[in-house]
Amino acid sequence: MQETKALIVSPHPDDLEIGMGGTACLLLEKGIDVVSVVVTDGRRSANPLGVSQEELVRTREREVRESSEILGVEISLLGFSDMESDSNKREFSSRIGEIITNLRPNEIYLPHPEIDKHRTHRTVSRLTIDCLNAAIKEIPFECECWFYEVWTPFPSYDRIEDITSFADRKRRAIEAHRSQTAYKDYTDGIMGLNRYRGAFHDTADGFAPLWAEVFIKHDSG
Ligand SMILES: [Zn+2]
Repeated sequence: MQETKALIVSPHPDDLEIGMGGTACLLLEKGIDVVSVVVTDGRRSANPLGVSQEELVRTREREVRESSEILGVEISLLGFSDMESDSNKREFSSRIGEIITNLRPNEIYLPHPEIDKHRTHRTVSRLTIDCLNAAIKEIPFECECWFYEVWTPFPSYDRIEDITSFADRKRRAIEAHRSQTAYKDYTDGIMGLNRYRGAFHDTADGFAPLWAEVFIKHDSG
């Protein structure tokens, strides 16, 4: 059987943890090869302690390394300052295009390119999808693309994952991002959303997880 490979793209150092920290653990437990790419260094994020940008970048790197260790995910930090300038967008497209071509993942996970309210998330996702389409055209391979839930709750979804066994690890991974939770403690907000997803899932099929993460499938048309 062909090895399954998943590429998870995090625009900021804490997006994977928030949107799919539990599912990342689940993929690893299934023996799926998970590659996680963190696009920006988080220098533009909340800075509640008022440290220099350089210090914030170092702090966020320490935090994401700690949270990834909690989840067991290997990360690659691309270190972009932001995704605003055309040159950064071009450079990111080239880097992510290269990663996709080399890895040929069976699954890619991204924030939603339209529903997510954070502009950097939408930009990163749109550029990644463009690069995926170009790569598939060049070297045909099968790849499903899934959107995970970060800044904006989804009105509906195509997939639900039971993350009950990993809820504690997910919580600890989010809490590792202390510089961000010091500004706004979103841990309970995210875990609450995951409880909501489990509690309000249509149980007609008898599937009733305590904690769950949901995904929208990208229709490549
Ligand atoms: Zn983010």
